[in-house]
This record gives sequence, structure tokens and C-alpha cells, in this order.
Amino acid sequence: MKTAVYPGSFDPITNGHLDIIERAVRLFDKVIVAVARREEKRPLFSVTEREQLVRQVVTCFPNVEVTSFSDLLVDFARRMNADIVIRGLRAVLDFDYEFQMVLLNRKLAPTVDTVFLLPSEKYFYLSSSMVKEIAALGGAVSCFVPPAVLAALKSRYPVCQ
Ligand code: ADP
Repeated sequence: MKTAVYPGSFDPITNGHLDIIERAVRLFDKVIVAVARREEKRPLFSVTEREQLVRQVVTCFPNVEVTSFSDLLVDFARRMNADIVIRGLRAVLDFDYEFQMVLLNRKLAPTVDTVFLLPSEKYFYLSSSMVKEIAALGGAVSCFVPPAVLAALKSRYPVCQ
């Protein structure tokens, strides 16, 4: 039984994240989508809201579990009996940060490995922060996020479409 953890802020979950989840469920027996608390990043949605939104949009995947965590990622992964961490890799901008994280995590937990998945190219430039910025300015985000997330964004930014 291969369990993988897909960690992130998911503030909020986008179609890019979902693309990665769709790929991951084909590779692993169980995928745990883990919402990082990260209050210091001043997220738009609370950890409970972010977790609920993820839960609502992954119901179609029977082998996906959703939870949140606030400890070190490798400690969390070990607690979940997972030795694989999934990260999505977009354009080159993700590379430096992700490279650093993998090497640090490997130092902390040599048996936990990171697997990078590439989304469809249409999501290469999609990020939660861009979605929030467009939504705040009244732009159309319906093509970037699932309907439940659009509704949540509208509750914060009534101008968004
Ligand atoms: P974090 O704050 O940990 O980077 P995010 O929610 O921004 O949390 O991202 C979680 C993971 O999902 C990261 O590996 C990120 O690269 C990936 N990701 C985010 N947006 C996309 C996207 N559009 N396509 C593919 N992967 C993505």
C-alpha cells in the first residue's frame, strides 16, 4: 500500500492543484491532501475553510483523504505512514524553492522522497495568489477554480466572476 502526502496552503484549491491530485491518484493507493495551517502567511481562508473546500472538490476520488497539519512536513508524513511527498512543478519559478525543500527534507528524513508532477500546460501559470488577486479586482476566475471555490471567493469578493 503506497501512501503519498500532497501538502500545500491550498488558499484556495485551484484547478491546477486538482490536476496534480488527478495524476497522483493514478500512481498511489492513497493520497492525503494536507492543508498546511501557515497562519503566518495570512491566508485569505481559515484552515478549516481551506480544508472544507478541498474536501468538497475531491469527493469524486475514493482514494483521497483530506486533513490539515501544523508540524514539520516530514514528521507529519511519517505520522501518516507515508514515505512519498507530492509537489506540483510549474514554470521555472517553483524550481529553486522546491529543490531546497527536497534537500532539507531529505536531511531531516532520508526515507521520505518527493515526487514532482507536472500539470497540464494550461495550468503552468496558475497560482492561488493570482486567483485571489484577480478575484479581488473583480475579474473572472471561474475558469481557474471549481464552482465551490468560486462561491467561496464571491463571499469574500462580491465583485468577482
Ligand atoms: P505552498 O504554500 O506549499 O506552495 P500551494 O497551495 O501554493 O502551497 O501549492 C501546493 C503545491 O501545489 C505546490 O507543490 C505547488 O507547486 C503546487 N501547485 C500550485 N498551483 C499549481 C498549478 N497551477 N499546477 C501545478 N501545481 C501547482
